[in-house]
Amino acid sequence: MKYQSTRNNTISVDAANAIKNGISSEGGLYVPCEIPALSAEMIESLSKLSYKERAAKILGMYLTDYSADELKFCADNAYHASKFAGENTAPLCSLEDGLNILELWHGPTCAFKDMALQILPYLLKKAIEKTGEDNKVVILVATSGDTGKAALEGFKDVDGTCIQVFYPVDGVSKIQKLQMTTQSGNNVSVCAVKGNFDDAQTGVKKIFTNNEYKAELNSRGYTFSSANSINWGRLAPQIVYYISAYCDLLCEGKIKNGEKINIVVPTGNFGNILAAYYAKVMGLPVNKLICASNQNNVLTDFINTGVYDRNRQFFTTVSPSMDILISSNLERLLHHISGRNDALVASYMKELSENGKYTVSEEIKKAVSDIFVAGCCDDTETAKTIAKYFNKYSYVADTHTAVALNVYEKYVEETGDKTPTVIASTANPFKFNKAVISAIDPELNLDDKDEFELLDILAKKGNIEIPVQLSELKSKEVRFSSVCDKENMIKETDKFLS
Ligand SMILES: *Cc1c(COP(=O)(O)O)cnc(C)c1O
Repeated sequence: MKYQSTRNNTISVDAANAIKNGISSEGGLYVPCEIPALSAEMIESLSKLSYKERAAKILGMYLTDYSADELKFCADNAYHASKFAGENTAPLCSLEDGLNILELWHGPTCAFKDMALQILPYLLKKAIEKTGEDNKVVILVATSGDTGKAALEGFKDVDGTCIQVFYPVDGVSKIQKLQMTTQSGNNVSVCAVKGNFDDAQTGVKKIFTNNEYKAELNSRGYTFSSANSINWGRLAPQIVYYISAYCDLLCEGKIKNGEKINIVVPTGNFGNILAAYYAKVMGLPVNKLICASNQNNVLTDFINTGVYDRNRQFFTTVSPSMDILISSNLERLLHHISGRNDALVASYMKELSENGKYTVSEEIKKAVSDIFVAGCCDDTETAKTIAKYFNKYSYVADTHTAVALNVYEKYVEETGDKTPTVIASTANPFKFNKAVISAIDPELNLDDKDEFELLDILAKKGNIEIPVQLSELKSKEVRFSSVCDKENMIKETDKFLS
């Protein structure tokens, strides 16, 4: 299967090149030229397999230039039981009839990003071999918190690669910051940027599309790639867990094959929910894809009005991984929904970068709202939702998952829709401990508590176990403390590479 660019249909590369390049040279994103079909029989046979086996099979439908053995190797290593607390890589937790939480955070960094970033380095390493690349591949990452750590953990000490991560200086939780600044590995670097996530992401994109700098680095033996969800190698593995969740529901007798489900996704860069969209287009029986946002509700407005407008106040919320006003992966959705109208997509993206705003045609607006429902909630509602699910089900949801639960409740209230539903749960609650504890017990004064006391308090209050990956941060040395202006990201990168 070939991959074309969202902004230029004549570009055609195989999966290995799409993964190695990360982004197309004219700034577009790689999309598969066709979307493979998933039949009911295939779902039936996938349901008899383990997560790793499901992953290898589903990835094989997209990454056709990788052999079955190569993909099996990648999946077996990435989703090894030692990394994901057992064989049940992405467990489904049923709270009640029809309400299922898909826990995507049992990996090494306690966030759903591990689902893709554990396998991406394997896919990329194979891509380097397949394309005969001699240069060292430099991974540049802009992170709102979770991607950075997950990418560092995935790429640390991977031969032929090195990784530089930028995070917004005040835009990540203390645990997230510690996770990154204590990162081990001989090929890693971490730097804070004075700005928000969009500034960091824009800075990385600028480096990626700076052809002069790229040529210079090339001559020094380096090639750039990306571990952000603009990389197809990030998105493809995310399709797997939606199909896998459907298989699990089937195995547990909670649905019949062919029966539709709703999928609710707490959304930031639109990557996770876009993977669910691919699963639906492939043939996974999906009724509605429900896009949940926090107070940075640019996507809610877009889905409801057809106007994407990033010219608005930016809010720092208790769900920081969703504090995003430029949702890069929406570009891929527009490409597919517009019937692969590359010129149109390019014109929307030009308007976005020049005016911060675009309005899609009536047809596109209608096609989007046929598939997607959108809603948002603020920090107060997020806290109330965490408390409600704790009191009702003894279930501790993190702040991002709580946004999804809240938006789902509003959807059910409005529509009465009883379709069995899967909620994508994107982080371990310990990663956002302070907000979660305050939600469960608003009376507690946490002002004088450090990160590790907070972990203990949450463990006691929530009756849940602290993941060792987080408790062990206490004894780790901080290795990275640089902070740079957003204009100087390229300098930082250059420093790291010299
Ligand atoms: C990254 C992240 C999200 C948003 O996912 P997108 O793919 O960017 O939409 C939501 N929750 C958590 C915890 C995350 O780390």
